[in-house]
Amino acid sequence: LEAKEEFSHKTLAMDVMRPRRSDPPLSVLTQDGMTVGDVESLITDTTYSGFPVVVSHESQRLVGFVLRRDLIISIDNARQRQDGIVSASRIFFTEYTPPQPPSSPPPLKLRGIMDLSPFTVTDLTAMDIVVDIFRKLGLRQCLITHNGRLLGIITKKDILKHVAQIANRDPDSILFN
Ligand code: ADP
Repeated sequence: LEAKEEFSHKTLAMDVMRPRRSDPPLSVLTQDGMTVGDVESLITDTTYSGFPVVVSHESQRLVGFVLRRDLIISIDNARQRQDGIVSASRIFFTEYTPPQPPSSPPPLKLRGIMDLSPFTVTDLTAMDIVVDIFRKLGLRQCLITHNGRLLGIITKKDILKHVAQIANRDPDSILFN
């Protein structure tokens, strides 16, 4: 039991999270820096179920999390029903929207579809604890941070793969008891 416990403590959140070192960077939204067109391109170019929202690419400070399907529905709705929403309209996840220059199209406010407190753990959190949190809280995803900066994401499927891997190496794993 001791050996197993030691083994399960060795894997950290940073070992399981995406992106891996060789992967393209995490796909994020910025809280006030993107247009409807930018977000539609991101939706077309990726298949992720959701996107973290950050203050800016430079800061990587986490603001919230938005589901892909809610983005699609809200943008489609706005394009159909909201006057003046076009590709160049700026999207805001912030509480307040600064006045737009007179020549630019009206902004699209999407704070309402953002989860304002997505679950996060630090990169050095032991994976057995992360697995436990997923199970107990029924999480779909968890964001990984280091010193307040967003580093990566772990989804429920990532967790299931990780648990299956451990079970392969270690069929009596305490994770299954
Ligand atoms: P699932 O894990 O259920 O397939 P996703 O399609 O959202 O869910 O994620 C696929 C893979 O991409 C997972 O390994 C996940 O960690 C990673 N991932 C999820 N969201 C993002 C994102 N916004 N940017 C980069 N990678 C992501």
